[in-house]
Amino acid sequence: MRYEGNIFRPPSEANSLILQATVGCSHNRCTFCAMYRNTSFRVRSIEELKEDIAMARACFGTGVRRVFLADGDPLIIQTQRLKQILLCLLQAFPKLQRVGTYATPQSLLLKSQEELEALRSLKLSILYLGVESGSAEVLKRLNKGVNPEEMVQAGRRAVEAGMKLSTMIILGAGGIELKDEHARESAAVLNRIAPRFISTLSMMVVEGTPLHDEMVAGSYVPPDPRQTLEELRDFLAALEVTSAIFRSNHVSNFLPLAGTLMKDKQALLNTLEEALAGPIPDDFGPQGY
Ligand code: SF4
Repeated sequence: MRYEGNIFRPPSEANSLILQATVGCSHNRCTFCAMYRNTSFRVRSIEELKEDIAMARACFGTGVRRVFLADGDPLIIQTQRLKQILLCLLQAFPKLQRVGTYATPQSLLLKSQEELEALRSLKLSILYLGVESGSAEVLKRLNKGVNPEEMVQAGRRAVEAGMKLSTMIILGAGGIELKDEHARESAAVLNRIAPRFISTLSMMVVEGTPLHDEMVAGSYVPPDPRQTLEELRDFLAALEVTSAIFRSNHVSNFLPLAGTLMKDKQALLNTLEEALAGPIPDDFGPQGY
């Protein structure tokens, strides 16, 4: 297998074969994101990918069951070409159970329901969507490139195509100023999307990003650890998704939480209230480094 630049994948794809279908991210403008900041976006050729798939088959045999397509946004690839890639994977790995990838809301909105269903039938069955926030103002400040209504449409399109949708919300994305709105509106957007998975992680402000400049200038003030937990509590309290796996256990989170909504919602809220009643370490949560 050949990889270019840094490769990122969700924790749940730790055991998947990673095929780098694109290099970088087609959007690459989110103010907080440093993942592909210095990488020019390109779609890798089908010939290159066929060679990589052949190399993987020679190395791992035909038993590969899960594949993750990197980098930031392979769903932007033209549907015909994506189908070709999926067919090559199915040919090489007859036991293939699922293919996953990151998706931007923009790339989801460029695909029709029928196109997504066709991709789903070729095992592209889990998408990871960085919702980040449901607040119009926070999305605008993050330069996400879509508003909440477009985010809902994008998410719904994946869900209605029968794909598993895994969504991420970033705690602290609105700073102290928009903390309440961020919690409330993020829950409202996810209530409408009704994804299969909901996870939160805490904002890590990376040097060299526009968000870091904003933090240095004082226009973005991250919430402190206690405020971050309060934001998480308010977000969770407003969630009404009836059937979703909830996780707040990213490495950047101080208090790992996991459960099934709505069954475990009250227990999760109780854990949060207990944590808020005690001392909270200073060194977790939204921060610069
Ligand atoms: S869409 Fe995702 S990968 Fe691309 S810049 Fe935004 S956060 Fe980074």
